[in-house]
Amino acid sequence: MSEASLRELACEARLNLRHLPDYMDSIADRLRSFEAGESHHGQRIDFRFAFGAASIDVEQLVMRAHAPDRDGLARIKDLLATAVQVYAKDENPEIVWTGDLSGETSLAQFREMTVTEVRDLTPHMRRIRFAGEDLTRFAKFGGMHIRMLFPTRDVPDPLWPVLGGNGLPVWPADDRRPAARVYTIRALDAASGIIDVDFLVHPGESVGSAWATQAAPGMKVGIMGPVGRPVRQAGWYVMGSDETGLPALARMLETLPAHTRGVAFVEIADEREKQKIDNATGIELHWLTRDGIPAGEDRLLTEAVRSVAWPKDVSTFGWFAAEAAAAKIVREHWRGTLGLGRDQTLAAAYWRRGAAGLMAG
Ligand SMILES: Cc1cc2nc3c(=O)[nH]c(=O)nc-3n(C[C@H](O)[C@H](O)[C@H](O)COP(=O)(O)OP(=O)(O)OC[C@H]3O[C@@H](n4cnc5c(N)ncnc54)[C@H](O)[C@@H]3O)c2cc1C
Repeated sequence: MSEASLRELACEARLNLRHLPDYMDSIADRLRSFEAGESHHGQRIDFRFAFGAASIDVEQLVMRAHAPDRDGLARIKDLLATAVQVYAKDENPEIVWTGDLSGETSLAQFREMTVTEVRDLTPHMRRIRFAGEDLTRFAKFGGMHIRMLFPTRDVPDPLWPVLGGNGLPVWPADDRRPAARVYTIRALDAASGIIDVDFLVHPGESVGSAWATQAAPGMKVGIMGPVGRPVRQAGWYVMGSDETGLPALARMLETLPAHTRGVAFVEIADEREKQKIDNATGIELHWLTRDGIPAGEDRLLTEAVRSVAWPKDVSTFGWFAAEAAAAKIVREHWRGTLGLGRDQTLAAAYWRRGAAGLMAG
């Protein structure tokens, strides 16, 4: 056992940024949305996560991370570096971590996976089982999704990303770069080294759907994750999704506590797309069928979600995942019309009509 694994792991990066205070509110807001507790000590802000801790010193221009294990430290480095890259991008920040794991080149959030089983749940939903090593981190951090890395016709033999000195992935040149798409871990059995992903097979040129159509045992993909923020615990939920959000919605219905109440709407192409879900909660599940209307054009789902009256006597949460225009309608209703906060709602665009690879970057 190395010395580093016997003690808390720690590292730091200097922030050569002239306007750091200008970005701090946005950076802190992003870190809080990953369930960080926050405290202020003069010019230093401390963040405490379930898996470790971080601090950003606005005066000394340094950020620090520490965690009890490698997964935790890698996760915090990734969260900090991503937040700085996103909000300070005008200053083109150069982040170089020193300390524990700084010489590491393997990417903690990456695994190569091999297809072991392919089966059709419905005419358009294909469940693919993948086997891989050391999957425990995909049950941590509260995120249910993964970025899947696929070979394509143009790049049949991709190279996988490695870890850069800034704590973020370094990608190969375009001629070896895999194509990324976001999917949900429908089921995870870390002890057996297995994950299941449900792929919607949709019309048109694509990467993920096209790959799933011809998937067969032995084929390899990369996965990175987990991706996404934890869904807030509440006593009552209103949920809505189309087929792309169904794997996440189904997973929530199967795992939320039995006393949870609420209502969930799932939009599907037609009756044949209904799936059996082991709903462990008191949330009522309703299926809405498009019956010939193309995906992303029907408004039944948004109407149903908007018609729900939110109770006042219980903690509540609204969760929605579907085509971008539908997500916008629901977000505006919840945040604008009902005046609900970000901590009570999540209305996410899972795909956009006419756009490839939404959210996969
Ligand atoms: C957090 C998250 C979790 C997700 N989980 C899942 C999941 O578990 N299973 C799943 O199937 N999808 C899931 N999605 C949606 C999926 O990432 C998108 O549908 C993605 O565009 C699929 O990639 P593609 O290569 O098949 O199509 P792309 O190459 O991205 O798009 C090609 C064309 O197909 C269209 N298209 C994309 N999606 C659809 C659709 N659903 N119906 C009709 N046309 C479409 C696009 O508008 C575009 O014109 C998730 C998305 C997010 C953000």
